[in-house]
Amino acid sequence: MTTAPSPANTPMFEQYRSLKSQHPDAILFFRMGDFYETFFDDAVTCARALEITLTSRNKNDPDPIPMAGVPVHAVAGYLQRLTDQGYRVAIGEQTEDPALAKGLVKREVVRVVTPGVTWDPGALEGRAANWLAAVSRGPAGFGVVVLDASTGDLRGTVVGQHAQAEDEVRRLEPKEVLFGPGVTPFVVAGAVRSSLAAAEWEPAATALSARLPDSASLPRELQLAAGAAVRYADDHLGGALGNVHTLTTWEPAGHMVIDEASRRNLELSRTLAGARKGSLLDLLDVCATNLGSRRLTEWMLFPLLDRARISRRADAVEALVREGSVRRSLRDELRRVADLERLSARVAHGTATARDLLALGRSLGALPAVVRCVADSPGLAALLPTDLAGDVAADLLGTLVDEPPLSITEGGVIREGVNAELDALVRLSVDGQALVEQLEDQERAATGINSLKIRQNKVFGYFIEVSTANLHRVPDRFLRKQTLSNCERYLTSELQELEQRVTTADERRRQLELELFRQLRTRVHQAGPRVAAVARAIATLDAASSLAEVASRSGWTRPVVDDSRDLDIVAGRHPVVEAALRDERFVPNDLTLAPETASLCILTGPNMAGKSTVLRQAALIVLLAQLGSFVPADRARVGVCDRIFTRVGASDDLRRGQSTFMVEMAETAAILRDATPRSLVVLDEIGRGTSTYDGLAIAWAVAEDLHDRLTCKALFATHYHELVALADTHPRVRNLHVAVGEVGHEIVFFRTLREGGASRSYGIQCARLAGLPESVITRAKTLLHTLEKPPTDGGDRQQLALFGAPRAPAAPPPPDPVRELLKATDPDALTPRMALELLYHLKGMG
Ligand code: ADP
Repeated sequence: MTTAPSPANTPMFEQYRSLKSQHPDAILFFRMGDFYETFFDDAVTCARALEITLTSRNKNDPDPIPMAGVPVHAVAGYLQRLTDQGYRVAIGEQTEDPALAKGLVKREVVRVVTPGVTWDPGALEGRAANWLAAVSRGPAGFGVVVLDASTGDLRGTVVGQHAQAEDEVRRLEPKEVLFGPGVTPFVVAGAVRSSLAAAEWEPAATALSARLPDSASLPRELQLAAGAAVRYADDHLGGALGNVHTLTTWEPAGHMVIDEASRRNLELSRTLAGARKGSLLDLLDVCATNLGSRRLTEWMLFPLLDRARISRRADAVEALVREGSVRRSLRDELRRVADLERLSARVAHGTATARDLLALGRSLGALPAVVRCVADSPGLAALLPTDLAGDVAADLLGTLVDEPPLSITEGGVIREGVNAELDALVRLSVDGQALVEQLEDQERAATGINSLKIRQNKVFGYFIEVSTANLHRVPDRFLRKQTLSNCERYLTSELQELEQRVTTADERRRQLELELFRQLRTRVHQAGPRVAAVARAIATLDAASSLAEVASRSGWTRPVVDDSRDLDIVAGRHPVVEAALRDERFVPNDLTLAPETASLCILTGPNMAGKSTVLRQAALIVLLAQLGSFVPADRARVGVCDRIFTRVGASDDLRRGQSTFMVEMAETAAILRDATPRSLVVLDEIGRGTSTYDGLAIAWAVAEDLHDRLTCKALFATHYHELVALADTHPRVRNLHVAVGEVGHEIVFFRTLREGGASRSYGIQCARLAGLPESVITRAKTLLHTLEKPPTDGGDRQQLALFGAPRAPAAPPPPDPVRELLKATDPDALTPRMALELLYHLKGMG
């Protein structure tokens, strides 16, 4: 007895298994006609990750094979979703024409798409770089290199310490990381860890030096890491990256350091919840091009320390703020510039279509208009290179038709007049059509069959078709080819001759067009470095105009950036909170920190008063100033800061689970270790993750250390009112509080910063706002009153309050609410509108 072969043993699945075994850690997309199919575990993974239907290859088999597929035309989006979730995908293509294949179609893995190595525009967020990072170990320390395969951008730096390597890698927010021999791997949020065999790093470095001659003089660490990144990308893209022209370096000492925790707390590129919307970057980025968005992201992640460089950027922004009409027309023109870098990458990789090339040509063609916009602003005009690659634009626009088809192999891509032979072939194929019609007329006349038709299909080419009713009129010279139910098909020698001419012309035309197209692509590829230079200039101009647009929409001002250690903000606002407020107006605040007189500011005030907002807005204003932007303040003077640290206490960072207190303490330890007198330290509710006295003691000691030893600028928001006493003994401590008032039972947030510590915590009022039942509120007030009363009988008042539960504390005389409210009100802190509201309120109470 023989059993039917299991479907899993068919030749196709043998082929499948052989491809899969070459890439066991990747999902295999197995091309079958118009679909990429996945099988077995891959199918289960894809069904879940992509929310697509899980079916099976052979439903009736006792052991069906799980299968899930995606259509080829929509593959980019699915690839993006998979790589976003950290998966790698091996693309198994059919490498011969299925129509011509004898037996099983050949298939090969042509590339492996990984989170950090992809160049497909459909599968990438255009506004962000897509970095693959590599970390190497060498004699001088650690090499950190990042490569964006979609643009050919390759850059790196060398640092002495492992911790610095971590900082630099994390700063760039890569999608994928490679660790070289001798490097202890570390976790990078949002990135997958991949590997390149240890033995490959050295040869890859040597190969890179040959490819990028100017990298030969760079430190060994850079060559190793860059070599590894490029080798890894080459391997995965299935061909050498053609658009890496140079390895640029950055100097960590030239940039402000903002570690990962601080970047997250300040919600620079993402909110705490992980969204781009609501982040600082989202607010700043109104760029007209993807080039500009990526440049702006880089500016935000690498704020400058050098005053001259800051000032050059701010000059460009200021020119664009002042010249509103220049800015508007410039932004309009920039919108016509597509993603030059990613298009060039596709050109380099040989995957650019005629539409890609046309987009490139039109973008380059739009540049003279961009130049005209800024021609009268010398500072801005100087940002653009003199070589705008106009010849490349002319070549592209002169060679390609206005609306080329998607496919580059079917002809119809090259303009008339470009190539004489092509024009002749096109004419012949058009004329050929006319000749066919002519022959059809002739045969109708000769045979008297009016319904006779000359038709064409892929199998027989041209043929004459005669309906069954007319068969008796068919002459002998017609050779029968095929009989169908209602007609017969014939050939004649004239028709075959004609066909020969027309199809040869067609075939030759397609070949010639493809050849001309490839030549064009090669010419454009050779201009790659020139296009890259233009792209860089456009990116800078666009990023500056985005900052200018935001500054002018939101009424920001240019800060004074100096080499002092001061921070002086007049009427500062939190850019993102302000933008998010709808009905309310954002209340601006002044803040001054000066190391000689007021280096440490203790900020108190009840929950929700606005402490965190004040803290963060100070940090964001410093950051904005040092990236060259205007700032949300009436006036600001910013002494250059080398680092910004922000730490949020356990209770404010609920997402982090169990070890929050340990994390918070580790982060605080890092601040005390790394902060310099030039740093800005922002601490929000540090020490709350433990018992009150422990927490207070820790907060106190940390504050003292910041004040006495580090002398850096520090903002310290706290619930521990006891900390205000620090000012009595420490000369440079300044107390501020965010003012609130009370109207009846209600707490009123004034949102203004005032000198001194907060008098009370208003915790109970906040609890009421949060909806605690009235009975519980009343009880809490009673307890509070007892706790606050000085002990009169020598007993332990806390004992009494917490365990003895005072039955009937002497009721204080009922306070006069109007008097109380007036007492709590500081007229200087009220806006005219608030004052009016208060008056209405008082009137209502009276
Ligand atoms: P805290 O840190 O004191 O608990 P937050 O700084 O988180 O308070 O502020 C709470 C909310 O108050 C913010 O989300 C914002 O909506 C609002 N807010 C804070 N500061 C201001 C301000 N200056 N003007 C207007 N609204 C503000």
